[in-house]
Amino acid sequence: MTATQTEFHPLTESVQPVFDTVLARSPHEPEFQQAVHEVLGTISPMLEQHPEYVEAGILERLVEPERQIMFRVPWLDDSGKLQVNRGYRIQFSSVLGPYKGGLRFHPSVNLSIIKFLGFEQIFKNALTGQGIGGAKGGSDFDPHGRSEAEVMRFCQSFMSELYRHLGEHTDVPAGDIGVGGREIGYLFGTYRKITNRHESGMFTGKGTGWGGAEVRTEATGYGAVFFAQEMLAVHNESLAGKRVGISGSGNVAIYAIQKAAQLGATAVTASDSSGYIVDDAGIDLDLLRQLKEVERTRIVEYANRRASARFVEGGSVWDVPVDIAVPSATQNELSLADAEALIANGVRAVSEGANMPCVPEAVAAFQQAGVLFAPGKAANAGGVATSALEMSQNASRQRWTFADSENKLREIMADIHDAAFNAAEKYGVPGDYVAGANIAGFQRVATAMLAQGVI
Ligand code: NDP
Repeated sequence: MTATQTEFHPLTESVQPVFDTVLARSPHEPEFQQAVHEVLGTISPMLEQHPEYVEAGILERLVEPERQIMFRVPWLDDSGKLQVNRGYRIQFSSVLGPYKGGLRFHPSVNLSIIKFLGFEQIFKNALTGQGIGGAKGGSDFDPHGRSEAEVMRFCQSFMSELYRHLGEHTDVPAGDIGVGGREIGYLFGTYRKITNRHESGMFTGKGTGWGGAEVRTEATGYGAVFFAQEMLAVHNESLAGKRVGISGSGNVAIYAIQKAAQLGATAVTASDSSGYIVDDAGIDLDLLRQLKEVERTRIVEYANRRASARFVEGGSVWDVPVDIAVPSATQNELSLADAEALIANGVRAVSEGANMPCVPEAVAAFQQAGVLFAPGKAANAGGVATSALEMSQNASRQRWTFADSENKLREIMADIHDAAFNAAEKYGVPGDYVAGANIAGFQRVATAMLAQGVI
């Protein structure tokens, strides 16, 4: 917890005890504390007008997951040596629908990170207007440098435990960092084998040839750019001609780059954990996809193969002057110093493609400088919204076209923008999309919890 976060969104008397309980129960979970503090600190204007939520203990219940699953994942590497990882699935809230949220495979994964992601997922999923609850899962397994066979064996072991907690009406995972189409294939295959059910609706992000929906792969990145477009439109501005800075070079980043270019902007950066590239001519998407989706190599290769690009080892991608920033790598990747550099270089809007990529001080700096700022909970909700569309198509055995799916995604992102924008206006914090998204998402969840009783 940081001083700025506490100062910028001080907790009121009615929510402080809830936060104190979180600190006492989860003392070693800084990311989870950070995510809870942000919600508690921004919904107070609404709670003052809705004491029924406080009286019914909605907050006390929401900060405690409905169920937390942690398990051993043993597997044999290519040399026959036993490896053991830890698996997680945190089922936070099923009040609006089956648990829904991605699986992350990254060495940094721990309980705090999965809980922060699962907590945010409750409100994000509510914002989409679809009937989906909130969950998150994953493992501290590191797919980097592992062979295909090792990744497959790990996925099989992971699912051989997790399958008993999943199902199309129970809990429906998807991808996240380190879990893309390849891993989803292995995980789904294992589930099918163990349960003897080709239950398409129990996983989203599947290949389009076996139950996957068009646009799911592109949806998170596209959605984050659509959200930026919506924020700019309020001020009669557009993306055309703008320089866009993007971090990461995975699923979200690649398709944010594609959509920015399609809307007339120029995406000039991408990164991975080894450094970043700048390409003033605009990122060559075919080259980036070849390197990251096919060759699975490091970002420096981009600069090695493209004359207009340079690679910067280490350093901060946010030093590059841009009009729009779409942080799309990981949590807390954009520091206060990064925000100050972006502001000094005239950034106009920030749309979080990743979950909680901006530290609280950076968010405060953007808002104080009048930069349009979209929190991930709203801006990256296009991925899970399209997952819900995949579930609908699986249930009805329909297949929508790419164009229909993209139109629906665009509509959903506009609706999410309007819900956050209008909630911020209504509760006296106009233009504060962080507060607006939290209030709008919370109210949908809280209304359902009141109706369903103490459960
Ligand atoms: P990918 O695994 O496809 O890509 C992640 C990218 O971020 C890689 O370039 C990776 O580099 C980089 N990265 C990850 N961790 C770090 C780190 N600790 N330091 C520096 N770079 C890092 O993941 P996604 O694109 O799917 O996810 C990116 C973000 O978007 C995450 O925050 C995720 O939660 C969020 N998100 C994803 C959704 C989806 O549909 N996929 C939906 C909603 C949110 P390297 O390879 O070197 O690790």
